[in-house]
Amino acid sequence: MIMEKMNLLEECRDAGNILISGHIRPDGDCIGSCLAMYLYLKKALPEASVKVCLEKPAEVFRCIKGFDEIDSTYAVEGDVDVFIALDCEKSRLGEAEEIFANARKCINIDHHVSNERGCGDVNHVDHSLSSTAELVYDLFDRQYMDAEIAKAVYIGIVHDTGIFRYSNTSPRTLRVAAELIEYGFEFPALIDETFYEKTYAQNQLLGRALLESIIFMHGKCIVSAIDKKTLDFYNATPEDLEGIISQLRITKGVECAIFMYETGSLEYKVSLRSCRYVDVSRVAVFFGGGGHVRAAGCTINGTFHDVVNNISKQIELQMDEYEQRNKEAAR
Ligand code: 5GP
Ligand code: MN
Repeated sequence: MIMEKMNLLEECRDAGNILISGHIRPDGDCIGSCLAMYLYLKKALPEASVKVCLEKPAEVFRCIKGFDEIDSTYAVEGDVDVFIALDCEKSRLGEAEEIFANARKCINIDHHVSNERGCGDVNHVDHSLSSTAELVYDLFDRQYMDAEIAKAVYIGIVHDTGIFRYSNTSPRTLRVAAELIEYGFEFPALIDETFYEKTYAQNQLLGRALLESIIFMHGKCIVSAIDKKTLDFYNATPEDLEGIISQLRITKGVECAIFMYETGSLEYKVSLRSCRYVDVSRVAVFFGGGGHVRAAGCTINGTFHDVVNNISKQIELQMDEYEQRNKEAAR
């Protein structure tokens, strides 16, 4: 999508109150881009009052400057002149959606394909970039950049690309990453601490999910689920389940991986990943969710079997289309 690049500082120029927020259950890209934006605007617009509201982020992100200033109570004083919604469209803002609705001006910066044009008065949506962090960095005036801002952007990029492994990693992404590490922060330690390191309970949950996974559709799909009882037993939160879906996805022969956890009675939060040709964003959107071509999610009601059956049907439709296309191409 080609879009004229907004001038971020111009858009915020006369704003007294700026509020930054992102999606519910914030991930590395959401937290990294919100804090990068926060640090940048505080520096570039010292007169403005800048604030970040997000659901409580995972402790591993404490290494990003400004982490302690994130407000998870969503208490906003006075009118918001500029609301910046990052890494999502308004329906995933959670408690911040009401603040968004009442703000004088809304800016939306996102890279999800399911967010077609953006939901703000001013939009910067580019589906071709790896992460919202990469998009946000593109809008920053380099004169205000520093090592702390660079680190926040870098964390966003590494998390959404699975450490530069997913297909959303482009030569441009790597060039941006190279520029960022020139600011001089300890990037190998950051990757270990925020991405690879797991607590004992997290490893146990990963182990259980792998052990209980089921492959179907002749090995092209894999599914696993964690029920509420198990989550309660480990006193686990959704962030303790990060990484399970990635491990399922790299099972040899698998095109599509499904991981779900029970969020309530007959309700599952579903994560979808694909390797080469299934557009999981289409599947997620069908069930009211969204995401990217190779990584998407949604919430579905029903028993485990209902959920698997319903999702499988959508995946199978795409696999059939793919086979049909291949047959026609071979003719
Ligand atoms: P995950 O499976 O890691 O939760 O999410 C994968 C991708 O899909 C992320 O980019 C995430 O923002 C998006 N996503 C996950 N769940 C939902 C959902 O319920 N609605 C929308 N619109 N996007 C989702
Ligand atoms: Mn993202």
